[in-house]
Amino acid sequence: MTTDNPPEVKIITINIETPDGKLPTAKVKIPDIPMGLANLVPPMQQLCNGIVELAIKREIASGSAISCKKGCGVCCCQLVPLSAPEAFFLYGYIKSLPTERRTIIESRFNEIRKAMDSAGIIERLLKIEDTKEHKVLAWDYFKLAMPCPFLEDSSCSIHQIRPFACREYNVTSPAELCVDPFNNKIQRIKIPRNMTTATARLSADLCGVPPTLIPMTLLLEWVTENEAVGRLTWSGIWLFERMLEYATGTELEDKEEL
Ligand code: SF4
Repeated sequence: MTTDNPPEVKIITINIETPDGKLPTAKVKIPDIPMGLANLVPPMQQLCNGIVELAIKREIASGSAISCKKGCGVCCCQLVPLSAPEAFFLYGYIKSLPTERRTIIESRFNEIRKAMDSAGIIERLLKIEDTKEHKVLAWDYFKLAMPCPFLEDSSCSIHQIRPFACREYNVTSPAELCVDPFNNKIQRIKIPRNMTTATARLSADLCGVPPTLIPMTLLLEWVTENEAVGRLTWSGIWLFERMLEYATGTELEDKEEL
């Protein structure tokens, strides 16, 4: 009989100040086991929730009301950007689903991919060079009117694990304006720390590649093409500490928004 030594466990106390106030202090136990990019996502989702909650409180305190509600889902026809860790995380989720459910979700992804291809959007995405072109492309994507593969009965079927971009998208302008977010004046609440950008920067620096954002509707093929990256691991404690640095902006001071 062999007995393996249990992994070292470090208790990390998290104190994060944001321009909207301090997040509740949290103590987390991190085992020093190898962790990959996808493991970054659940703790960053918690941070993202805390930051968004404070931003919403700030808006409410200033007299605004949030128009977003369960069962709206109009914004879920937009191109959702994912960082690489989120792409691996959501891919893992899809692959863990029972076969029947997974087939339904994957077929929705395939349908959207086909529509993007017919509209020439995939070809243009590969050649994209500047922010202006990205906006035009995002508008053309929205015009396809293809709801997100996870949208069901106008609600998000993966609400607990939805991407950072979806958590951070909250508007105070009337909900009816969201039917055309590119031509109507939409007032999105300002989020002081963008977790999609922070996670994309962190994973790029870890892997020594330029930061990239992946359109959610192309995540299945992107992950297949980048499978080797998804298998990379780092010490769990070290990775968690890097995540905190990037999430709080320590490592981002001299870098531009993506
Ligand atoms: S993941 Fe959920 S919230 Fe985000 S676009 Fe899809 S259905 Fe909407």
